[in-house]
Amino acid sequence: MKVVVVGGVAGGASVAARARRLDEFAEIIVFEKSGNVSFANCGLPYHIGEVIKDRDRLLLQTPQSLRDSLDIDVRIGTEVTALDLDARTVTARNLATGEEYIETWEKLALCPGSSPFRPRLPGLDHPDVMVLRNVEDMDDIKAKVDAIVAEPDRLKHAVVIGAGYIGLEMAENLHERGLAVEIVEMTDQIMPPLDKELSTPMENYLRAQGLALHLGTAAAAFTTSPAGHLSVELTSGRVLTTSLVIMSAGVRPNTELAVAAGIDLGPSGGIRVDTHMQTSHPDVYAAGDVVEVPHTVLGGSWIIPLAGPANRQARVAAENMLGRDTEYESTQGTSIVKVFDMVAGGTGATEKQLRAAEIPFLRAHVHPSGHAGYYPGTAQMDVKCLYSPTDGRILGAQITGFDGVDKRLDVFATAIRLGATVYDLEKLELAYAPPFGSAKDAVNMIGFMGANTLRGDLVGWFSTDYPANCEGARIIDVRSRSEYDVWHIPAAELVPLSTLREAQEDWDRDTPIRLYCASGFRSYLAHRILVQRGFTDVATLVGGVKTFRAWHHVAPDDVPDPLFPMTPYAEEESLRAQGALPAAAVIGTGVEVDLDCTGLACPGPIMALQKKMGELNTGDEVIAHVSDIGFRLDAPAWATKNGHEVLDMKPEGPGVVARIRKGGPAASAGGATMNPVAARLKEKKSFVVFSGDFDKVLAAFIIANGAVAMGDEISMFFTFWGLNALRRPDAPEVDKSLIDKAMARMMPAGPEAMKLSQMHMLGGGTSMIKKIMRDNKVPSLPELIESAQRSGVRLVACTMTMDLLGLHEEELIDGVEFGGVAMFLGEANESNAAFFI
Ligand code: FAD
Repeated sequence: MKVVVVGGVAGGASVAARARRLDEFAEIIVFEKSGNVSFANCGLPYHIGEVIKDRDRLLLQTPQSLRDSLDIDVRIGTEVTALDLDARTVTARNLATGEEYIETWEKLALCPGSSPFRPRLPGLDHPDVMVLRNVEDMDDIKAKVDAIVAEPDRLKHAVVIGAGYIGLEMAENLHERGLAVEIVEMTDQIMPPLDKELSTPMENYLRAQGLALHLGTAAAAFTTSPAGHLSVELTSGRVLTTSLVIMSAGVRPNTELAVAAGIDLGPSGGIRVDTHMQTSHPDVYAAGDVVEVPHTVLGGSWIIPLAGPANRQARVAAENMLGRDTEYESTQGTSIVKVFDMVAGGTGATEKQLRAAEIPFLRAHVHPSGHAGYYPGTAQMDVKCLYSPTDGRILGAQITGFDGVDKRLDVFATAIRLGATVYDLEKLELAYAPPFGSAKDAVNMIGFMGANTLRGDLVGWFSTDYPANCEGARIIDVRSRSEYDVWHIPAAELVPLSTLREAQEDWDRDTPIRLYCASGFRSYLAHRILVQRGFTDVATLVGGVKTFRAWHHVAPDDVPDPLFPMTPYAEEESLRAQGALPAAAVIGTGVEVDLDCTGLACPGPIMALQKKMGELNTGDEVIAHVSDIGFRLDAPAWATKNGHEVLDMKPEGPGVVARIRKGGPAASAGGATMNPVAARLKEKKSFVVFSGDFDKVLAAFIIANGAVAMGDEISMFFTFWGLNALRRPDAPEVDKSLIDKAMARMMPAGPEAMKLSQMHMLGGGTSMIKKIMRDNKVPSLPELIESAQRSGVRLVACTMTMDLLGLHEEELIDGVEFGGVAMFLGEANESNAAFFI
């Protein structure tokens, strides 16, 4: 048997190697027109970025090593220029000598791959407009980058055209070499194979890393500026001046040889093959980027240029060439990319593709962290899964995040390949320990959500259909006040989950209710409460605010623009000296506190910051390390609302490190003036609720509700026995010492359990008062607490008391802030009356 292979990299080298393993005596010749065989094209960008320092490590094989190990005759630098199907020959040309010769074959494998698409634009032949496909391209680009970096006068700047995975990898690596990078993408999102709400988090992350994105615009021409720089004119009219352009605008299959020989192409323009990878000629097989195959979910005939499929197709082609009967069924397009620390990928069909193919689908979104939040090094991810509304079969999945994206993606890829359903995902038992995942894995959570929906326990509403899907409905935000304050859907009413059971009592059961929370979990709990209480039209925002904001590109109102770079702290004083900073800004006290919020998902970092600020003095600064990239948008809004100042924010790992200065009354240092936001004159009252007696706490809330109704700002600081008023009766089990457990049992667990200070009479007096209050239509204590929260009264739990009494955050009602004496004193200073109850 004589086998000839055209192309000697992913597909070609695999065909040859498999053929040898099946037939020790076959003559196998591989023609490869470039100077290298079986190189790692997927690793090329990383040598340019000097992540892979040793170039030789990309050269997986040489002609000699293939000769030695597999007895394959590899002819590099040799291009096949023609095929003769009748004569069963190829014409080969040695590119160094120009010599042409004929080689015969009994079986032929076509694995010529694809070529980077180079749109016909004016100036495309400029020497600094480059593409990356093989080792030679890599060497050229690296030499260019080395020169740009080395020469002091060169503009340290590159433009990447196309934001697919190769473009993004190049952007990262050029940035790693110290170049400023701008990415141009014709569609309105990066990573066009992903759905938009999945690409937005990565866009935000790239911007946070300092990369500029030009979306929805394309390169129109390349020119040379009068100063000698390369200019990229965009269709938007913008002109980018640069030193290097990388064109990564997709690839086109190398079908010229096949077409000239009369081999059939498919509808997408690649070589048509059957499941045996056999072309329209019975002895010619093809594999890799050049072929069309069915899509696992969408069917049809698709060109899906990826290394994994190329290798597997090649194996199937070799087996059939040598007499076995092996089939390649389909490609599902599993792909993944890492840019800096962020990872994005997908498998199966996207929502866009399902819509275009008119295949019915349902969607599930979850946002868990990559592994247990309390174990360092994790961040939230966005997981989207598409599944069949009839039988729950998984149709596609996409994930953006940091740690653990790849393993979830591979579970989904396996599930799709094996025809699994969301019910199967519910049952999967996946590897878990805190550094690797969560006991309820992201994949299980998708299974729960999908199965809940199919069983009718959950009805979703979707960001994509907003606002039409909210017409005539009440939009209810069940998060806490501080989350609501940072950003909420327009016209949404705030009803924190803990207050919902009571709040809903007088609501009309037939008015449609559209619930939402941060990620969809709390609103699901709310959903279950409402449907079981007779509400007829309830739906939960799938994916919560996180998906909503990603889809609609909404940031909190008060976010300054541009977000990055913010004024680096080190420059602040010099800017102030030049008069470029408002003189009104608070001068710091020099006190600086590190706050580790890594692993906390929204609203965790904001809550932690709120709590920490409560312990500090005006002018003190918090250095917050946050892995949730959403913090980048939320922190400035939160700070502005609370009178603090975000001084600086820099990328750090998956998220940011932010320096935030506490606002409030003037800092003592230098008699500085206050932040103007904090300086607004307020009619303000503050309370210390020390007593744990029912009647005294009742009085405190009656006064507080009255004052807030008169337009005052109120903060209530709960300390010692008073803290019991904020306890949740249905608090979750938390780990406690025996003493703490005993303390908790002896104290009233929430307002309903509190007793009258006098005439308690073994509970008879307290019950009597409650009845009298009911008869006289006086709201109950829990109702007064809820109404105070709804009206914006700040309820602050004394952290020192929490430590003393062994109370944990999760044992207190939602929406409570945490603070110390300093916080109360700060509040009291700003108040025109303070009450001690
Ligand atoms: P190739 O591997 O490109 O091999 C085709 C070879 O045929 C070429 O070397 C070419 O010189 C040769 N050839 C063409 N015509 C002739 C001729 N007439 N005569 C002789 N030789 C000829 N895929 C992934 O799945 N994951 C990744 O992370 C990833 N990263 C990538 C990064 C880069 C920079 C690039 C360029 C590609 C990446 N890919 C990735 C895609 C993946 O490399 C391809 O899908 C895969 O290599 C396709 O295999 P192939 O054999 O069809 O083509």
